[in-house]
Amino acid sequence: MKEENKKKSSGDESGDSARSSRRNFMKSFGLIGAATATGGAAIYSGYKYEKKKGPKDMVRVLTEDNQLVEIPVSEIEKVTSDLKVLQSRGRQGIAGRRWVMVIDLAKCRNARQCVTACQSAHNLRPYEYHINTLIMQESETTAPYFMPKPCQHCDNPPCVSVCPVDATFKRPDGIVLIDNERCIGCRFCIAACPYSARMFHWEEPKLVEGQEDLSYDVELNVPQRKGTVSKCLFSADRLREGQLPYCVSACPNGVFYFGDENEDSVTNGTTKETHRLSSLLEDNAGYRLMPELGTQPRVYYLPPKNRLFEFPEDQKPENHTTKHA
Ligand code: SF4
Repeated sequence: MKEENKKKSSGDESGDSARSSRRNFMKSFGLIGAATATGGAAIYSGYKYEKKKGPKDMVRVLTEDNQLVEIPVSEIEKVTSDLKVLQSRGRQGIAGRRWVMVIDLAKCRNARQCVTACQSAHNLRPYEYHINTLIMQESETTAPYFMPKPCQHCDNPPCVSVCPVDATFKRPDGIVLIDNERCIGCRFCIAACPYSARMFHWEEPKLVEGQEDLSYDVELNVPQRKGTVSKCLFSADRLREGQLPYCVSACPNGVFYFGDENEDSVTNGTTKETHRLSSLLEDNAGYRLMPELGTQPRVYYLPPKNRLFEFPEDQKPENHTTKHA
């Protein structure tokens, strides 16, 4: 299967421009990673040290206008981003992209690393979810399977149309976000979402030490606020840094693919192999949840066929108190 995947990722794809485009896409997921070692808010403003390259204590950072420069570690200082700037760029999204996720149900073993990575990034408690793994079984004669379920980032999102204050919105790059500075906690969006993808902060959200003075970042939804709604953000903050989403990178079993529909390309978060999106969906009978609703999700599922592991006896639906249908 791995060999076949490698073939798909490099050998049989046509067109130099498509290959080059996909290579650039992969490059962006690896190269810019160095900048994050300095912390997400450590954006270097200025170029005067670019020429001072030495063998020691140098680090590459991404400037505000998306240039990668190398500077001495000692010259880095943290800047507090302005709320209005974060709100404005959070609405604009990332130009030229149409983000898409593919979840391979045949590979999910309920490791739940996606869940904990997401909770850690967004200061969620163990019982608060932006993504969760559900136990599914279509009928008594079919095998149960695990299904990770994030927000589907619908292209025709009912949650957005019902919001009375424009707090939740759809970006040109496909991501649906919530601005908690505008959210009034009416919860119309929770009622409108057919995928139960949203949660409400009934209590003060968890505050992480060192983040008390952080400006609210709409792309990370941190710090969160009591009385507002939150949900999966497709890790918009990570995408801005050229990295895969938290859940995608954390999965040890190769369940998640993430990429850009405009480039017809997705990368597996575990193997880092890149695939043609259209072939992956066509070859594996990819589907979307409840297509009859016309919500047009940007999350695709590959069916749980040919699973290579036994479903744990103690997690079978009949042994569970809560059964998801
Ligand atoms: Fe909105 Fe629900 Fe669709 Fe997410 S899954 S975009 S919350 S309707």
